[in-house]
Amino acid sequence: EVLQGANLSVQTVSKAFGGNKALSQVSLEAKPGAVTAIIGPNGSGKTTLLNMISGYYETDEGVIALDDLQIQGQPSYKVARSGVSRTFQTPNIPKNLSVIEAVESGRYSTQRASILQAVFRTPKFRRIRREDRSEAQRVLNLVGLGSQLNADADSLPLGNRRLLEVARSLIGSPKVILLDEVASGLDEDELDVLADLILRLREAGLTVVIVEHNFQLVLRLADVIYVLAQGSVMAHGAPAEIEKNPRVMEEYLGI
Ligand code: ADP
Repeated sequence: EVLQGANLSVQTVSKAFGGNKALSQVSLEAKPGAVTAIIGPNGSGKTTLLNMISGYYETDEGVIALDDLQIQGQPSYKVARSGVSRTFQTPNIPKNLSVIEAVESGRYSTQRASILQAVFRTPKFRRIRREDRSEAQRVLNLVGLGSQLNADADSLPLGNRRLLEVARSLIGSPKVILLDEVASGLDEDELDVLADLILRLREAGLTVVIVEHNFQLVLRLADVIYVLAQGSVMAHGAPAEIEKNPRVMEEYLGI
């Protein structure tokens, strides 16, 4: 499987909420075929940064670009259409859906079929539904849930729910996926499965950005690590460099 990535570039982005500067002049590059990790203590601005990239918040200043396309200031659905997809810290898998329906429902947010097409079940609507189903099957195979299409999404074990969230983020052929704390709460075996999936997405050429608390997992997965502290990038580099940085160890791990 070959997935097309894109270069994600964040250039001197700032964001304040009232008087509180959540991000100050943050710059970051995430490349295709690489895992870029964003780490930092609680309140350091990680989620805000993901929200800015995915268009949930407007930037106060700075540029966010996908290859040559500037996406800052665009609403989240447009950013999604441009190829940036994300998972959420609190899983937002709808209730009472099968695994495959849960993945298909991720697609509706990109509004391919209009309401009128859906109500009248036009040929275009039916064609889109067929395409959605086969794409959902494809991404579920990719994440390893291909044999559980009809299982109740809500009652999957946590590890599989996380894989399902990643599957939902893969619908619509994104170029960049932003994974927000997808590993939290997983046991060692589930972590291995998730880590393997993330590495396969990277090998396939996607641009993968993870926000992750589990530092050991970050060291295992990341090609580049950005360390946020109080809304600024305090360090960035390869895992081996970050691990040797005493300021980072103190800031992040408290050692
Ligand atoms: P992290 O994800 O690293 O824990 P956040 O991005 O959630 O950090 O928060 C960074 C700072 O921005 C915090 O001071 C937080 O209180 C503030 N913040 C984040 N989102 C909002 C918001 N919607 N309104 C007001 N303040 C916010």
